[in-house]
Amino acid sequence: MANKYVYFFGAGKAEGRAEMKDLLGGKGANLAEMTNLKIPVPPGFTITTEACNIFYRNRGRVPKGITDEVGKNLRRLEKLSRKKFGDRNNPLLVSVRSGSRFSMPGMMDTVLNLGLNDNTVKGLAKKSENERFAFDCYRRFITMFSDVVLGIPKEYFEEILEKRKSEKDIDLDTDLDTDDLLFIVKKFKDLVKKRLKKPFPQAPDRQLKMAIDAVFRSWNNPRAKYYRKSHSIPDNLGTAVNIQLMVFGNMGNDSATGVGFTRNPSTGAKELYGEYLLNAQGEDVVAGIRTPKGLKELKKDMPSVFKELIDITKRLEKHYRDVQDYEFTVENDHLYMLQTRSGKRTATSAVKIAVDMVKEKLISKEAAILRVEPAQIDQLLHPIIDPNASYTVIAKGLPASPGAATGMVVFNADRAVELSTEGKPVILVRKETSPDDIHGMDAAKGILTAKGGMTSHAAVVARQMGKTCVAGCDDIEIDEMTNRFSVQGKTIMEGDFITLNGSMGEVILGEVPLMTPELTGAFGVLMKWADSFRKIGVRANADVPRDAQVARDFGAEGIGLCRTEHMFFAEDRVNIMQKMILAKTVEDRKKYLDMLLPMQKKDFVGLFKAMDGYPVTIRLLDPPLHEFLPKMEDLMVEVTKLELLHADKGLLSEKKSLLARVEELHEFNPMLGLRGCRVGILYPEITRMQVRAIMEAAKKKVKIYPEIMIPLVSMKEEMQAQKEIVVQVAEEVQRKFKTKVKYLVGTMIELPRAAICADKIAEEAEFFSFGTNDLTQTAYGFSRDDAGKFIMEYMNTAEKCVGCGGILEKDLSCPDCKRVYEQRADNILNFDPFQTLDQAGVGDLIKIGVERGRGTRKDLKIGICGEHGGDPASVEFCHLSGFDYVSCSPYRIPIARLSAAQVVIKENMRNRASRKAAGAKGKKRRKSAR
Ligand code: ADP
Ligand code: MG
Ligand code: MG
Repeated sequence: MANKYVYFFGAGKAEGRAEMKDLLGGKGANLAEMTNLKIPVPPGFTITTEACNIFYRNRGRVPKGITDEVGKNLRRLEKLSRKKFGDRNNPLLVSVRSGSRFSMPGMMDTVLNLGLNDNTVKGLAKKSENERFAFDCYRRFITMFSDVVLGIPKEYFEEILEKRKSEKDIDLDTDLDTDDLLFIVKKFKDLVKKRLKKPFPQAPDRQLKMAIDAVFRSWNNPRAKYYRKSHSIPDNLGTAVNIQLMVFGNMGNDSATGVGFTRNPSTGAKELYGEYLLNAQGEDVVAGIRTPKGLKELKKDMPSVFKELIDITKRLEKHYRDVQDYEFTVENDHLYMLQTRSGKRTATSAVKIAVDMVKEKLISKEAAILRVEPAQIDQLLHPIIDPNASYTVIAKGLPASPGAATGMVVFNADRAVELSTEGKPVILVRKETSPDDIHGMDAAKGILTAKGGMTSHAAVVARQMGKTCVAGCDDIEIDEMTNRFSVQGKTIMEGDFITLNGSMGEVILGEVPLMTPELTGAFGVLMKWADSFRKIGVRANADVPRDAQVARDFGAEGIGLCRTEHMFFAEDRVNIMQKMILAKTVEDRKKYLDMLLPMQKKDFVGLFKAMDGYPVTIRLLDPPLHEFLPKMEDLMVEVTKLELLHADKGLLSEKKSLLARVEELHEFNPMLGLRGCRVGILYPEITRMQVRAIMEAAKKKVKIYPEIMIPLVSMKEEMQAQKEIVVQVAEEVQRKFKTKVKYLVGTMIELPRAAICADKIAEEAEFFSFGTNDLTQTAYGFSRDDAGKFIMEYMNTAEKCVGCGGILEKDLSCPDCKRVYEQRADNILNFDPFQTLDQAGVGDLIKIGVERGRGTRKDLKIGICGEHGGDPASVEFCHLSGFDYVSCSPYRIPIARLSAAQVVIKENMRNRASRKAAGAKGKKRRKSAR
């Protein structure tokens, strides 16, 4: 249907389905699906995401056609519920909930009990024979509506509530009596009137219209935009609005509200997991106002409801074939489901659940592999506390998100971002977090909160981000005014170090050594499955035997990049290296190179041993030589000092000649200076020494496949010149030691000219390895060491006023020049090209390089060795571009393996789908031909 904007659900039938998430949002589609499954869901209707987009196109107004449709559905809801919206005897109350395609913290909070006013509240009281309940709903409604629709922060309302509680000396909201609530409601209304200069909106129709508009507007609030940006969610999806009959968990002790997961989202164990509160409504459970009870106790409190809940949630898990995160409310012993969605989970549980579900025959291996997000398994590779370390636990909270983190304490999100940009590890400490803290949580290594349960905002978001989190740690007393917290008589200030153990809920004073965990169990199983699907090889960037060993343990099939220069920075070597560089004659230089040879050889022996049977790509010396020498400024100071002190002549002249050589080697732009193959061409004896070391390192018992890589080639002639030397020495060594080594000589493609002239270069090179760090630098003309500042700026231009550069407010107004925007501008850059491969530009250079290179040499071996090698999107790109392997840092290897499997599975799915489509077409054609 072309112009349908509202979808009804109720009485066992819904117009929507689970597959309609794009149109109805996740929440709306699942409410429809549950309704169709005959699960008890309060009836209601969903306004589509399309309406949201129309709202924006229509300059922030809902067109009349849609309003009429809403009206019709409201009548339908009235009929079904036998209540009437705005009726003073039997009022219909609804919740208004946002919900887009993806669950997005940061959208408008839900408004419950909408439809209440000074008249209908009396009707509700009469009808329920419970005046206290009615006014409890009213005070909640005024707070929520004022906060999210009228823009009066809820803190003002909470202050009034708390004041009354302390006057009456009570602790819990549930201890407030009817008179208290009447009093509070009056105060609330006074507050609204004072702030708005207008009374609280009384007409239910107007309340509903305002709430719908507010949901649509919230799609573009800064929190939501930040979340979308950091999760690469497109801005044009829009949000749906769900309007649903209220059910009341706050009607007394036969009523309740709760949340749960069908499996433990932290460990993946198949067990009861969830919390509830008796006599409570909506967000009370997650807000940490009262401490909720574990679901186990519901069995005692409400045995039949408990049984029904277990039945329903089991059914849901089976139906969706995935862990469900659900919300429910019990009204007078009747159970209602209010939400279900696939549960967010830690990497540990994602892996365990995926593997378990294959064993339970719920899903296929392919599905299991696709279930685990590659970036997420980074968490599994994250540190745990070294079991041998001794430490003092100063407080205990809930183990909300596993792993361990050490860092400096900060008390607000902005400060967390500030310090972490300076490269400092931070732990964000808050009473509780809210969506306003997301950027700080993102920047922090770990999160500690004083309030909230296992399903609090902090816990849910931290698990999803893969951050260590200890929640609900009420031992600690936070003073946000003075930026400190106290516990057990100790005071911890901003900047002090603490360590969190998210798996145990422990808060530890000071820094504690951390360790990487074992990679066995379900993880090992999943990785093995992944390996059986993937086609592209996965190698590691490793320079020393220790890293090579870690890489092997993570599943690396060789080394894709060994940077030999790192070997010369060691303390005992850099001196010889310096002398070699300072040498005036070739003979002199050779003498020092001979001293370096055995050291270099030893490194290769270690690497080859760790990579026994696998290829090892060794890049010859790449950096400019002056990197091994002291800084010119330092030397000048030293020489001046020695002169003034009339120091030893020998020492002085040594320093002077060093300075002279440093001055000689000084370059204005070292990145584009004498480096890469140019060094080996000017000083061929360096290349000779390195090749000799590689070839002599070949040992009888270890199978080696060295791939000797010439760096920074831009011309075939450079490649040719170096290759000649490499082959000459390699053959010579083999003859001399009577060995036979299968080696390749190739090059890094890291300059645009090399990619363009790949056909020529491939005449000499037997393999290409795309060095995407340098290729990105040279393609953009960005120096990686200097680009950080303006790349950040480029990624944030949308937050700024196009006119004057001021930072825009939440309502998109500029505080400096008072311009108001309807929509944010686009950013100049939406990603950091040094982290995510720029497929449009750098990617095209790569494609040209592959195509032209293979045009000359069909069996040209092709890999990538930049930072991008472990990035899931780049792995996909490399697979599709016909690479033989990707190479990345050891800790990213499992991520690359999983991504490489996923791209194959997705490719297979696409192929199956298109075969099916072609088959269907073929059948049709055959039919019509007959
Ligand atoms: P969120 O996405 O933040 O969970 P929800 O709209 O799901 O927002 O809900 C906020 C709270 O209000 C939840 O506890 C939910 O169960 C509750 N709630 C939503 N709609 C209703 C309703 N019609 N009746 C009772 N409780 C509701
Ligand atoms: Mg919810
Ligand atoms: Mg390079």
